[in-house]
Amino acid sequence: MHETMNAKQIIETEHRVHLQTYTRSEVVFSRGKGVYLYDTDGRPYLDFVAGIAVNALGHCDEHLQRAISEQAARLWHCSNLYYSEPQVRLAQMLVENSFADKVFFCNSGTEAIEGAIKIARKWAAVNKGKHCFEIIAFHRSFHGRTMGALSATGQTKYWEGFQPMLPGFQFASFNDLTDVEHRIGPGTAAILVEPVQGEGGIYPAEQNFLQGLRDLCHRHQCLLMLDEIQCGLGRTGKLFAYEHYGIQPDILALAKPLAAGLPMGAILMTNAVAEAIRPGDHGSTFGGGPLVAHVATQTITRILDPALLEHVAQNGRYLISQLAERLASFEEVTAIRGLGLMIGIDIELDVKQIITTCLKNGLIIARAGENTLRLTPPLIVEQSQIDEAIEKLILSIQSVRGKNGSKSEN
Ligand SMILES: *Cc1c(COP(=O)(O)O)cnc(C)c1O
Repeated sequence: MHETMNAKQIIETEHRVHLQTYTRSEVVFSRGKGVYLYDTDGRPYLDFVAGIAVNALGHCDEHLQRAISEQAARLWHCSNLYYSEPQVRLAQMLVENSFADKVFFCNSGTEAIEGAIKIARKWAAVNKGKHCFEIIAFHRSFHGRTMGALSATGQTKYWEGFQPMLPGFQFASFNDLTDVEHRIGPGTAAILVEPVQGEGGIYPAEQNFLQGLRDLCHRHQCLLMLDEIQCGLGRTGKLFAYEHYGIQPDILALAKPLAAGLPMGAILMTNAVAEAIRPGDHGSTFGGGPLVAHVATQTITRILDPALLEHVAQNGRYLISQLAERLASFEEVTAIRGLGLMIGIDIELDVKQIITTCLKNGLIIARAGENTLRLTPPLIVEQSQIDEAIEKLILSIQSVRGKNGSKSEN
């Protein structure tokens, strides 16, 4: 073991030496296996966050361990000044299984959005003229933390202290086509949307809405850009969330589960878009390096297995129907929604307290939006583990409700 600090020391030291920008739960994890994480005392936790939809194949998958070791012994990094096979194989796999003709690799979700914004602006400048640079995004959206991605994020709480934002962004109401129709015009370069809004509270787009956006983009000659950083790559029971809607985007951003826990992002696009880009327009030192690219190829090979996608679809239906049934008697639960294994539960209780209580009971869940509990377990989660999670969730909700009840009597 290489740990030399106990949990208390680790937490205290973090407060002293790490930038205090995360509100972390009071737990230190030291290893993971499958759908479980273990703290420094060896206590198991059922992981229904999966690193925020990152650990698609669970923790420390043995096949991926071998993929990492193989590539670690061969080549880690050589720069995009040169060619390497893992990058090309991964790009080929993404192209063969999506709408896209071309791929660009980066290192995170926010970078994928940042690159997508640049590509859309360049496409518009080349094809429609320099006056055309506006992007329509949506209220309640989340696209990342760099200045461009943040400017596209339709939640002003993330802007506080960082203004002025990048010009050229407008925000429409999600699932409201008329609102978009009013905003779209000759200055519009692209529409940017999450097929299932993640951070905003797990809101799937309605069928007519995404189809309508696709039609509007055709009619006004602008690009449809999808942010599938959270909802893409098997999370909804299909490889891409857009497949549920019978549409195809012009640009699509990927990241979170792409390399199953190693940092990687990607921008997928059509040839029509890619043709606007010239050598030197964009780049990345680390993007698509051999190590992450090899791990991503192995990850996507597994996710592409129709049996795994069916497993996600089936277990997603099971999870949401069990939640609906078992939480029906809780009047504090006002909505349950989601797609595949991406599920939100609106609850009129202290969400932070529920998350903390779940953790004490050995279940890891997260928050989205204001009053939404978010469940994004690894795609490999089994029915028995779903049952276990629901038991622990109910226990935790009951316990928080009990405390609040006695509090309000004081
Ligand atoms: C997480 C997320 C991002 C940002 O990704 P990072 O890797 O944290 O930069 C962007 N869009 C969506 C939909 C996300 O869920």
